[in-house]
Amino acid sequence: MTPDKKIQKALFWHRRDLRIEDNAGLYKALKQSEEVIPVFIFDSTILELLPGDDQRVLFIYRQIEQLRTDYHVHHSDLYVAYGDPKKLIPELARLFQAEAVFTNRDYEPAAVLRDQQVHEALAKDDIPLIGAKDHVIFEKSEVVKDDGEPYVVYTPYMKKWREKLNDFYLSSYPVKEYTPKLSKQKHSATPSLTDMGFSDKKSVDFPPAEFPSKTIRDYDKTRDFPADTGGTSRLGMHLRFGTISIRELARYAQKRNETYLNELIWREFYQMILYHFPHSAERSFRQKYDDIPWSNNEAHFEKWCAGKTGYPLVDAGMRQLNESGYMHNRVRMVVASFLTKHLLIDWRWGEAYFAHKLLDYEQASNVGGWQWAAGSGCDAAPYFRVFNPSTQLDKFDKDRKYVKRWVPEFGSADYPEPIVEHKEARERAISTYKKALN
Ligand code: FAD
Repeated sequence: MTPDKKIQKALFWHRRDLRIEDNAGLYKALKQSEEVIPVFIFDSTILELLPGDDQRVLFIYRQIEQLRTDYHVHHSDLYVAYGDPKKLIPELARLFQAEAVFTNRDYEPAAVLRDQQVHEALAKDDIPLIGAKDHVIFEKSEVVKDDGEPYVVYTPYMKKWREKLNDFYLSSYPVKEYTPKLSKQKHSATPSLTDMGFSDKKSVDFPPAEFPSKTIRDYDKTRDFPADTGGTSRLGMHLRFGTISIRELARYAQKRNETYLNELIWREFYQMILYHFPHSAERSFRQKYDDIPWSNNEAHFEKWCAGKTGYPLVDAGMRQLNESGYMHNRVRMVVASFLTKHLLIDWRWGEAYFAHKLLDYEQASNVGGWQWAAGSGCDAAPYFRVFNPSTQLDKFDKDRKYVKRWVPEFGSADYPEPIVEHKEARERAISTYKKALN
């Protein structure tokens, strides 16, 4: 298909972009086509691996229902199905006689592979799969070193990112101008959560999709103190599922807080790293770290998961995660360092546990955060830097407000003794790493 050929009918495939406003791929589809049918597939190949009470599925389900209502306002509808998109998207394209399928790009290795397979299946019918950049301000190789190679260190990447930024990259896509081109076709009801094997019981709070003005304004002063529930924005989940637009948020942050914008740049840095170095999802970014002989003590791992290590900040963090699906960033760093250094447990065990529990789970940031803590990542903490969980507690939860909130038996005889002694564990970690790396 030639780029300027007018498309009569197209599908727009929503994935991690569950909104109409400022949706780059939807805008592109509407602009280039006479009629656009929006679709969403509950991907059975992912959902089959999740437990029935996964709260992220409930969150997505609710957003899909909201999205349908939003489309109704435009006299349109969202086609929703359950199944394998590799099979369903080509089938739907044929069913609706679509000449093209538009979507927003996803940079995770499994998604890249899926999209390649969908592209090949559609190509058999001469239907292109057309991608757009929506999830980030800069993608893939848009911010690279002067020699064209990807950055592997954050600070120069951040500087180049900021240099390149201008109003064009931050502008919203005016989808509204084209909404009359949304298909008027109505579709059958969304498959029920129970039919898909999931519970509709809400057991955790979902953070609101609103930009907290005070939090963002004061972010550099408040972000390190986990007891302050308004100290960070809690927007991770909305960025993950595209229920807010990164362009709007970056625009908002740019005017209010440099440090906050830098965190959004960390997010893009990790997206770029995962795209260029997909091996890092499963293996150490720096290969020699694959030689570390992890102790992988299962009893210790269970205590870490349950928040029963005898280190109050670690335990509070793990219990916050288990009970709310969220953990404060400072505490994520401490628990990850504790697992990989004090307990010498493979970072992949911790990464998988977080992936299972975090509402804001994002593969690029999670792998990035874990490999940073383990020392094996790009621009990671050096292996000999071992967080002291007690010092961290004194510094960031001086009054023990956070600990008392999540560990009610803290300070009583019921609270466990430390499972490892800090000094010994630190020395063991440093000598094990040193031996493996040399
Ligand atoms: P805020 O502090 O308000 O920051 C705003 C946004 O900036 C976040 O929502 C996030 O999108 C981005 N951001 C902030 N810090 C980072 C960072 N260090 N790296 C990348 N992006 C960042 N973040 C995830 O989004 N998903 C994950 O699965 C994830 N796993 C992590 C695992 C470990 C071991 C560590 C150390 C960090 C991880 N992070 C992850 C990064 C960070 O902890 C969370 O983004 C943040 O705590 C989310 O809370 P918030 O939305 O209130 O963030």
